[in-house]
Amino acid sequence: LLVPASGPSFLPAVPTPTFPRPISPYNVMQNRSITIVGAGLTGPVLAVFLARRGYSVELFDRGPDPRAATIGRGRSINITLCPRGLRPLDTIGAGAAVRRIGVLAKGRVIHGTDGSLERQPYGNQGEALLSVSRAELNTTLVEHAAREPGVRMAFDERCLRVDFETRMLTLENRRTGAVTTREFRHLIGADGAHSVVRQHLQKRPHFDYSQHYCKHGNKELLLPADSSAAWSQERESLHIWPRGQYMLIAFPNRDGTTTCTLHMPLEGDISHASLRDARDVERVFAESFSDVRWAIPDLAAQYFENPVVPMVTIKCAPWSIEDKALLIGDAAHSIWPSYGQGANSAFEDCAVLDAWLERSPDDAREAFIAFERERKPSTDAMADLSIEHFLELRDLVGDPSFLLRKKIERAMSRLFPLAYQPLYSLVSFTHTPYADALALDRRQRKIVDELMAIDGIEERLETPDVARLMEQMLGPSDSEKTSSRLPASSISI
Ligand SMILES: Cc1cc2nc3c(=O)[nH]c(=O)nc-3n(C[C@H](O)[C@H](O)[C@H](O)COP(=O)(O)OP(=O)(O)OC[C@H]3O[C@@H](n4cnc5c(N)ncnc54)[C@H](O)[C@@H]3O)c2cc1C
Repeated sequence: LLVPASGPSFLPAVPTPTFPRPISPYNVMQNRSITIVGAGLTGPVLAVFLARRGYSVELFDRGPDPRAATIGRGRSINITLCPRGLRPLDTIGAGAAVRRIGVLAKGRVIHGTDGSLERQPYGNQGEALLSVSRAELNTTLVEHAAREPGVRMAFDERCLRVDFETRMLTLENRRTGAVTTREFRHLIGADGAHSVVRQHLQKRPHFDYSQHYCKHGNKELLLPADSSAAWSQERESLHIWPRGQYMLIAFPNRDGTTTCTLHMPLEGDISHASLRDARDVERVFAESFSDVRWAIPDLAAQYFENPVVPMVTIKCAPWSIEDKALLIGDAAHSIWPSYGQGANSAFEDCAVLDAWLERSPDDAREAFIAFERERKPSTDAMADLSIEHFLELRDLVGDPSFLLRKKIERAMSRLFPLAYQPLYSLVSFTHTPYADALALDRRQRKIVDELMAIDGIEERLETPDVARLMEQMLGPSDSEKTSSRLPASSISI
């Protein structure tokens, strides 16, 4: 099907499910129409789900059609997809095309300050993430939606205003400047973190809203395909250089290039603000990332050419107003990219909304409320976990006690794969709702804390004594304890 031939049985073809109900002209005539603002990652996926549920869907995006656009360097960030995000793509039949544009990452390689390398596989059963270029992913999803009867898309159409009382949407064509108004039956805001649809909901009473910017920003730097850097030949891994307040992460690309993302405080001694000229950039890289410094010949030029991308958490409620409008994806819940779950959770949103629309086919209001009731606790949990994981990646992945924790977690999940799954696996390699994963982790963490306190645990990890102790601590038998959860091996990428 997809990715490198080295992949184990972890990469089976996922059959494309057929939808229970084909498009029905009757439904369309009954005014089952939905307007979506935003054809980023969420919009096209949702459009296909809705069209197959019998809605006639129109989709507007302010940007140019990605099928015609050329993406400039420094603007094409990498997205890692996990089974949680791939399953909805499989459901709409887009999974195979997305896998074709991806590269597998089976674990992290941690680059120490002394040049040492620590390899941390994502799991014991060949678990892997799929790393794709955001721009290519967007194009693939738009192409897929464009083939779907019942979906119409228009680009360069910026949403200026929404009037919920009259159900009118005002759009401005960015090429001609023409301003038009359109009536909508149901409006879905899939217009990202700075959603205009949400801004209009915010003007209404009792709308809760919070945003929290990270004091760090990231910047993309591209390593050429012909790089001779030895580490860049390890293509099935994410490479991380944790350096306390700042860090570098490298993602392999399909074309042999490697995208490096520099995460740094915006202000301070070593920060984006402190890198004022080429010498500053060269010095920080020579001191902290020497094996990357020489691999990017035009390092300083790229640094100053590419933008600093901010990271923001946005939480809001309610996500809907009657049956008139609903927020989805980043418009409803924007999270820091550290856990790599923003797009994955947005795709999961689409499948959950579709399931509620199936249950309430004639009551969109009911479906919108139920969708939020199911999703919000989980997306709130993921927002908090993303902040926690950012600090973990930045400060801890090189820390000996953190590395010991990871070793114990891996040993426990290898010995008791059904009874114990580390938080990262629960989030990235199962479909466990994020809120449940968080709650389970808080209970499991205490067990790992106790094991870490045992003298010489690292050397004794593989002994029967420690295995017995783990079993006791985990409590009821494997199968009993986890009958409601799927083992990682049953989740395919
Ligand atoms: C640096 C970085 C790295 C990331 N890495 C990952 C990762 O590894 N894994 C992961 O799962 N997620 C990742 N994410 C998150 C992911 O990119 C988002 O969660 C995802 O793009 C959300 O999709 P969306 O459709 O809701 O919003 P977007 O993808 O932002 O799409 C919104 C769309 O709405 C359009 N729009 C906006 N305003 C208007 C308007 N007024 N009128 C018309 N159209 C409008 C925009 O043009 C855009 O096309 C990352 C994010 C960043 C910033």
